[in-house]
Amino acid sequence: MIPPGETIGILGGGQLGRMLAKAAAQLGYRVHVYAPEADSVAAEVCARFTNAHWDDAAAMAEFAADCAVVTYEFENVPVGPLKALGSVPLHPNARALEVAQDRLNEKEFVEQLGGRTAPYMAVDTREDLDAALTRLGSPGILKTRREGYDGKGQWRINADHEADGIAFSGQPLIYEGLVRFSAEFSVILARGHDGRIAFWDSAENVHKGGILALSTAPASDAVLAQVEEARALAAKVADGLDYVGVAAFEFFATSDGPVFNEMAPRVHNSGHWTIEGAVTSQFENHIRAICGLPLGDTRLAATKVEMRNIIGEAAEDWAAILADPANHLHLYGKGAARPGRKMGHVTRLTF
Ligand code: AMP
Repeated sequence: MIPPGETIGILGGGQLGRMLAKAAAQLGYRVHVYAPEADSVAAEVCARFTNAHWDDAAAMAEFAADCAVVTYEFENVPVGPLKALGSVPLHPNARALEVAQDRLNEKEFVEQLGGRTAPYMAVDTREDLDAALTRLGSPGILKTRREGYDGKGQWRINADHEADGIAFSGQPLIYEGLVRFSAEFSVILARGHDGRIAFWDSAENVHKGGILALSTAPASDAVLAQVEEARALAAKVADGLDYVGVAAFEFFATSDGPVFNEMAPRVHNSGHWTIEGAVTSQFENHIRAICGLPLGDTRLAATKVEMRNIIGEAAEDWAAILADPANHLHLYGKGAARPGRKMGHVTRLTF
């Protein structure tokens, strides 16, 4: 067990790190953030900040020397430089990063465990894409295998001829057939050192333009009917990776049952509602798990919880949001609002 008072290292400096740091502080830990960007919103709420590139081995080793345990809030941290952490434990482990960083690896891993995915094919060239369109047909979505998020690095192909406009840059891609779904939902779990798994209620998620807009818990009956099967798969993945910490799995609810879309080896936007809407939040349980502490109660703390993202330059009336006692406002302290940028969220509880 890593006792309160010790220092937790967080790789990545965004809003997930900010919310993790706040949860860590509540339990008496100090947080050291490591991020390549100077304007880190996590660094604003932590004890120490290392602003260095991922491959700066000296900076990484110095960071590790200050930490009792290291975690990450960003799944695209390159795995190679993590060797510089030496003997300091990394939770979740590097294997979880390797699997989740590549959409092809992730789908293959999940299929081996008996999970259902969208039909897919790896695509590196125009010829590969033609073969994928012949085999899987259109409509579909061409995605970068690595580093895509919030709908970035994705091209919708509604008809085969639309493939003509796509420029290939040598980046590995994956073509996925379009899944017909009635709803989207996530399974978020925390897994402790002892292998014990706790699930939160599954939120039903609405995306706009590939970006999460709204999460609601409890989900509709159509989703609830698929949660058990989705949880069983998520638990197999977590066990298979010997995972420690919080992980999120996104699913489509379809007439064939739950179809796995992707996993995040970290706390997740569709779990932000747990800060006020669950007895213990995903952030606190992540800290508890990586420090070897008992996991907290994940049950709902209200009858209904709704989390809405504040995205881009949308004009918001902060005073009106705060004037309603049902609302809980979280702003991430990001300077410039840009289209698609997540600036904060509002959680609304109904008792
Ligand atoms: P992703 O970045 O893979 O999570 O995709 C973002 C969003 O795009 C998903 O939450 C879905 O709304 C949509 N999407 C992605 N892949 C597919 C697919 N194969 N079929 C249908 N919708 C998809």
